[in-house]
Amino acid sequence: MAKKPSEPNCREIVDLLAEYLDGSLEPATARRLRSHLEGCAPCVAFVNTYKGTVKAARRLKETDIPPELKDRLLSFLRERKIP
Ligand SMILES: [Zn+2]
Repeated sequence: MAKKPSEPNCREIVDLLAEYLDGSLEPATARRLRSHLEGCAPCVAFVNTYKGTVKAARRLKETDIPPELKDRLLSFLRERKIP
């Protein structure tokens, strides 16, 4: 378990995503998030789902990830045994 603390894992992506899309994430963190996305198909799928959801539900603030969506991603990740 020698994971670098500076590398966000999938769960952190979920938490950071709203700020990332909002543009309020620190540039360094946003960069790490982007590089994680480059190598992580489930997270890319989540980002796309999330963007679609935000678009579909305009009254949702972008800073609020709907809890159902978050749950869905987390169980999605669990099924695939992604940390
Ligand atoms: Zn991921």
